Amino acid sequence: MAERALVIGAGMAGLWTALALAPTGRDVVLLERDPPPPAGDADSAFVDWNRRGVGHLRHSHAFLARLRLIIRDEHPELLAELLEAGCRDLPFEGGLTDIHKRSYSPAPIDRDLAILTSRRTTLELIMRRYVERQPNITIRSETFVKALRIAPGTIPTVTGVVVEDATGTHDLEADIVVDAGGRTSQAFEHLLEAGVKIPEETETCGILYFTRHYRLNPGEAEPPRGKAALTGDLEYLKFGVFPADNGCFSITLCVPEIEMELRKSIVDPSVFDAACVRLGGLGPWIDPAKAQPISRVFGMGDLQSRWRTMAKDSRAAVLGFFPVGDSLVRTNPLYGRGCSFAAVSAHLLRDAITASADPAARVLLYQSATDRDLRPYYDFMCNADRDAVRRAKRALTPGYRPSLRGRLTRSFMEDGVAIAVRSDIDLMRAALMGFHMLEHPQAWLKRPANLAKIMGYWARGKRRNSEAYRPKPGPEREEMLQALGISPQLDVERVMAEAA
Ligand SMILES: Cc1cc2nc3c(=O)[nH]c(=O)nc-3n(C[C@H](O)[C@H](O)[C@H](O)COP(=O)(O)OP(=O)(O)OC[C@H]3O[C@@H](n4cnc5c(N)ncnc54)[C@H](O)[C@@H]3O)c2cc1C
Repeated sequence: MAERALVIGAGMAGLWTALALAPTGRDVVLLERDPPPPAGDADSAFVDWNRRGVGHLRHSHAFLARLRLIIRDEHPELLAELLEAGCRDLPFEGGLTDIHKRSYSPAPIDRDLAILTSRRTTLELIMRRYVERQPNITIRSETFVKALRIAPGTIPTVTGVVVEDATGTHDLEADIVVDAGGRTSQAFEHLLEAGVKIPEETETCGILYFTRHYRLNPGEAEPPRGKAALTGDLEYLKFGVFPADNGCFSITLCVPEIEMELRKSIVDPSVFDAACVRLGGLGPWIDPAKAQPISRVFGMGDLQSRWRTMAKDSRAAVLGFFPVGDSLVRTNPLYGRGCSFAAVSAHLLRDAITASADPAARVLLYQSATDRDLRPYYDFMCNADRDAVRRAKRALTPGYRPSLRGRLTRSFMEDGVAIAVRSDIDLMRAALMGFHMLEHPQAWLKRPANLAKIMGYWARGKRRNSEAYRPKPGPEREEMLQALGISPQLDVERVMAEAA
């Protein structure tokens, strides 16, 4: 008889688990606490879909190439439906600088290095409708998983779940339970109550996320891409424009946790927009002659990176239970990798449970696959976050002067790596392979030929590389805060007091 998989949650990871497991002949049941999407189009989903289970549903989302390629190669019909609904492919060519364009000739890999983007409600709506049509999959909405059923043993086994729905409380049995309950999944508390402690590493991402959505006025097109940046990092503020579906786009501003005054003020729509007009090329996008806001400013804090380990020293912690997506590993949304992690973990789970019927072997196989495939990106992102937290703190430290080593490292990154990538099309392709999770995030930097090119650009100096520099993406911190009517002094005094 076919194995039965109960999946907690029908968010990104739940939907991907269904798409990965159902074609193997397993019977997949998704248990989702929230109601189904409203009937209607992408706009109805954006306005009306009640998704209390996904606090970040109305923040900017984009799918990296790793995920887009899974869709393109394994679910071409889904890609067609996403594009039909207005989701956008942002192709490799769109990111080329004037220097690249002069010698650009398309290479086959360029077709793979695209981003898929839209409002997350649109991506999820279309994916969900696609999943609902597939064989072997049932989605039970408004069904809350309140507990795990756990059989004791040398290694405890999860044998099912207890759900609550409109008809009452029920026990459901399963061959495997997949936890796709997201960042706030309760399953690990249930395991702990049963004496199963899953080791986890957590650290702060160091930022808060603020997103506002806009729609182009009728007949208006997106402003032409010029030299001014649509994404940028000013250390006290990071920003990005996310082109979306059906004439919509969103802007996300990320504020370091330490910037207490800025993060309090930026949720005010007028402050948010006033910041945007001072950032890179954002001004023309939100010019009222071009576009109107269609949402308030959504804010989100408590952004943490978290890695959970289901097997250590060749021993599974629990059998019959597999976390995927955010319940397995949470990452900083800035890197846009969470949905790719969700899809990849679902596929790694499929491979592990298909490779062996032995419950313990399955856990070990899944653990080693996630260690191999996802861990390098996780480590890379945590290192980058720690560095960003340090830089944000320094921005608030009066008179701070970096060490010679610090200055050299920064110059290597800004005047060497970034300039080389903006000048050399092959380096750009190589860097994007890591960015898009198509190879180890730093593999390209370890290749001697790439390193030699980077050193060459670095050695040429700023004057000869001048064309590759982008205009400064925005004002200095004090100038920006003053323009926004925020006292820059308050945070500085706090950091000084903490340091004393
Ligand atoms: C601000 C922000 C911006 C982001 N931007 C990007 C981006 O641009 N690109 C990208 O790839 N990733 C991005 N991410 C990450 C991405 O959104 C997550 O990694 C992704 O949603 C994880 O999918 P998931 O299915 O694990 O969790 P979720 O999508 O959160 O889904 C969890 C589901 O489980 C349900 N659920 C929970 N508990 C229960 C229960 N007890 N019973 C029944 N149902 C339950 C919830 O209702 C929900 O539907 C972003 C994250 C944040 C916070």
